[in-house]
Amino acid sequence: MIVMKFGGTSVADQAAIKRLMAIVRAARQTATQPEAADWRGPVVVVSALGGATDKLLTAATDAGAGNIPAAVDALKALRARHLDVAGIVGASADRPAVDAFIHDQFDELERLVGALGVLREVTPRWLDTIAAAGEILSSRLVAAALSAHGIAAAWVDSRTVIVTGDEHQAAPPLMTETQTALSAVVDPLLADRQVVVMGGFVGANTAGVTTTLGRGGSDYSAAIVGACLGASEIQIWTDVDGMLTADPRIIKGVQVVPHLSFGEASELAYFGAKVLHPATILPAVGKNIPVRILNSRRPNDAGGTLITRDRSLTNGPVTAMASKKNVTVVDITSTRMLMAHGFLARIFQAFEAHRTAVDVVTTSEVSVSITVDDPRRLPEIAASLREVAEVTCEDRMAIVCAVGDGLQCDPAFVSDLLQSLRGIPIRMVSQAAARRNVTLVIREADLEAALVRVHERFLGVSA
Ligand code: ADP
Ligand code: ASP
Ligand code: MG
Repeated sequence: MIVMKFGGTSVADQAAIKRLMAIVRAARQTATQPEAADWRGPVVVVSALGGATDKLLTAATDAGAGNIPAAVDALKALRARHLDVAGIVGASADRPAVDAFIHDQFDELERLVGALGVLREVTPRWLDTIAAAGEILSSRLVAAALSAHGIAAAWVDSRTVIVTGDEHQAAPPLMTETQTALSAVVDPLLADRQVVVMGGFVGANTAGVTTTLGRGGSDYSAAIVGACLGASEIQIWTDVDGMLTADPRIIKGVQVVPHLSFGEASELAYFGAKVLHPATILPAVGKNIPVRILNSRRPNDAGGTLITRDRSLTNGPVTAMASKKNVTVVDITSTRMLMAHGFLARIFQAFEAHRTAVDVVTTSEVSVSITVDDPRRLPEIAASLREVAEVTCEDRMAIVCAVGDGLQCDPAFVSDLLQSLRGIPIRMVSQAAARRNVTLVIREADLEAALVRVHERFLGVSA
């Protein structure tokens, strides 16, 4: 059985859902061939209609700020869009129930933003409840569309099967509980030869309160479902041909990477390749399930990217580049660090106490430099660190990360990399002993030039 995840652009409108249906129909036909080893599934995991999550979250924030009319207007537009997309269900018997479902969801959302607007407060818990409506609606709609077009499909409410911890907006999945729930709910449907459709991104804690896995989390949902149900492959259907050699939004001339190892894919996702949520690979590695990234607009033309346990076989040292903008560098300097134990622990405790994740870390004898994505708690963190050190922060920085299993075999790689960047000021350099990536921190203003140069030098393509 395979898990097929369709992102926001792949369910954005009726035309996109038609393409999805053709892809699912083909997968269903393959599964039911006499020689197929497993006739179950697929399980289809969908994101909210493209852009819907942003709109829902903005409506929630507007309501929290007391701007109820703006929130209600946004919800009215979203309601109309969902009703329009529901046209794909046609005049099937399920249509009135689908329309009623959409109205119920939006009636509830309007009541909720009204209440939040009066309270003038929106907590992470309510942000999750509101954002989750996007996937609950899209999945209900896609299930109905498949059934209406002759593909027996059952809708599963993700809140009944994805069990998570309580951390709203980044809830960790509880794998044992999730596996039990998925087996109880999804296995019988698969045994009944139904295609199962559920929303990504969304879950519920053990008390049944709605949670989400974090932005871009539908990829993660697909991997969780795949690992729990023992899928033979997890497919991520999106709007590009696969993992590309660099971010196509920043430079031209990028190419599809046909194969990546799990390790390479994790590093690329972690350091900014948006096409894959950073946590996606974890459940797949645990059960050794291949992950494939495919373009839903060109299902037959492109081979996509296959991610497996095997080492990648690229010619050069670099398989692909990842990058992140909007990074802040925190420099912490103290002579107390010289020969002292416990100093690093003290520094990381300050970040931990304010629940701020650190990305790249470099140290010298008397100073530590750390990058963070989320600078919201930096004033408190810096104040606490100033008790023992001097602290300076610099924003508008960027991370550039060269990733490749082949880096290990090229002793000259770092010097070649730095050579290719001559003239661009480099703020931090990091290479771990495992040597699957070399990470640089530079000014955001230099990012495009740096990517073009590294790409040209190591990926053999001029942008
Ligand atoms: P989906 O809605 O299908 O989940 P996302 O927008 O989350 O899609 O991810 C796909 C986007 O990721 C692409 O359109 C592309 O702009 C961006 N992206 C950034 N880096 C890469 C990369 N290295 N390879 C492919 N896509 C990338
Ligand atoms: N809809 C969610 C988001 O926009 C989850 C996802 O698309 O993966 O973040
Ligand atoms: Mg995504």
